[in-house]
Amino acid sequence: MSAIDFNVIHNDRGCAARSGSLTTPHGRIDTPIFMPVGTQATVKAMTPEELCEVGAQIILANTYHLYIRPGHELVERLGGLHSFMHWDRPILTDSGGFQVFSLGELRKISEDGVRFQSHLDGSYHFISPERAIAIQEALGADIIMCFDECPPYPAEYDYVSRSADLTTRWALRCREAKSRDDQALFGIVQGGMHRDLREKSASELRALDFDGYAIGGLSVGEEKEAMHRVMGYCGPLLPDNKPRYIMGIGAPEDLVEGIYSGFDMFDCVMPTRNARNGMLFTSSGTINIKNASHTEESAPIDEGCGCYVCGNYSRAYLRHLYRSGEILASRLNTWHNLYYYLSLMADARKAISEDRFTQFRQEFYAKRERQPTIDR
Ligand SMILES: [Zn+2]
Repeated sequence: MSAIDFNVIHNDRGCAARSGSLTTPHGRIDTPIFMPVGTQATVKAMTPEELCEVGAQIILANTYHLYIRPGHELVERLGGLHSFMHWDRPILTDSGGFQVFSLGELRKISEDGVRFQSHLDGSYHFISPERAIAIQEALGADIIMCFDECPPYPAEYDYVSRSADLTTRWALRCREAKSRDDQALFGIVQGGMHRDLREKSASELRALDFDGYAIGGLSVGEEKEAMHRVMGYCGPLLPDNKPRYIMGIGAPEDLVEGIYSGFDMFDCVMPTRNARNGMLFTSSGTINIKNASHTEESAPIDEGCGCYVCGNYSRAYLRHLYRSGEILASRLNTWHNLYYYLSLMADARKAISEDRFTQFRQEFYAKRERQPTIDR
C-alpha cells in the first residue's frame, strides 16, 4: 500500500507529455509540477502564505543541510518539517546524496555508505542508505528519496557503470530500511549520459517497485543537448502509472523538454537563486534587472504576467531596489520568478489537456526566437 496515489488524467495525443494528479498525505498536486527549493526549510525570501499565493503545491527541502543544521532529531522533536516550518502542503526531501557527493575532497565512498566532513565546521559524519532513510523519516516529508551516488561529469564509463550498480544496491537497502507507511519512497535512476546504463538502472529499479521514479545525475555540467537527449530516452524507461521526476532541473526550456519527454515533477534553485542575483524570467526570455536599460522603464517585468509584482511595480523601481541592496528586491524578484515557473506549469497542464503540447512547445521557443537543442 503506497502513501501516495498517482493518476494520469490525460496523455497528450501529439507527444509523450501527460497531465496527472498526485495525492499525498498533505494534499493533492496537479502534474506536471515545479517544486520550489527550500534548502534550509525555507524557500528563501518567501513565507508559506506567499508560496501558496504564487501557486506552489509542493516544495523540496534538502536532507543534507537540515541534518547538518539544525539536525533532523531536533526537527522531529518539534513535530517534523511541516510543523517546524509552518507549511501544511506536500514536501519532498532529497536523500542528501547529491550534496554529499558535491563535497568532493571532503568525502569517501564505500559499499556501506559515505564518510564526509561537514561544509560548516569540518566535523566527520557517515551516511549510509539506512541512515539517509532514518533522517528523512525524522524530517517527515510526504515523499522521500533513495540514497544514490551521483557520479561527476565527465567520468569514465566503467566508473559510471559501477556507480549505477552501487545505487541499485543502495536502493534495495533503502526500501528495506523504510519503516513509515505515510511516506512514499522514490528510486533514482543513474547512468550518466550512457543510454545502456540508464536502461539497466531503470530496469533494475523498476523491479524493486518504488512509489515513483526519478532521473538523477543531470545538470552536472553536461551540454544542454546531452541533457535533453537523456531526458528524451529516459521518460519511456519509467512506468506509466508512477510519478516521474527529473532532479535538479532546470531552466524554463529544460522543464518544457522534460514535460515533452513525459516527466511530471521538477525542482531547481534557478528561479529563487537567479532572482536574488537580479535575473528575471519573462515569456520572451531572461532579463537582468541591473542593466542600465531599465533605469527609467515604467513597464513591469513582463506585461503578460499576472503576478503581484508585475501588477504593482516598474522595472525602474525593481532596478533601484536591487542597486540599493534592499531586502525587498530579493522578495519581489523571487515572487515574480516563482510565479513565472508555476504559471508555466499551469499553462503546460492546460495545453496537455487540449492535446496541443507540441504546439505549446513550438510557441515557447518562437517567443524567445530560439530553437529546441534537439529536433524531435
Ligand atoms: Zn510577474
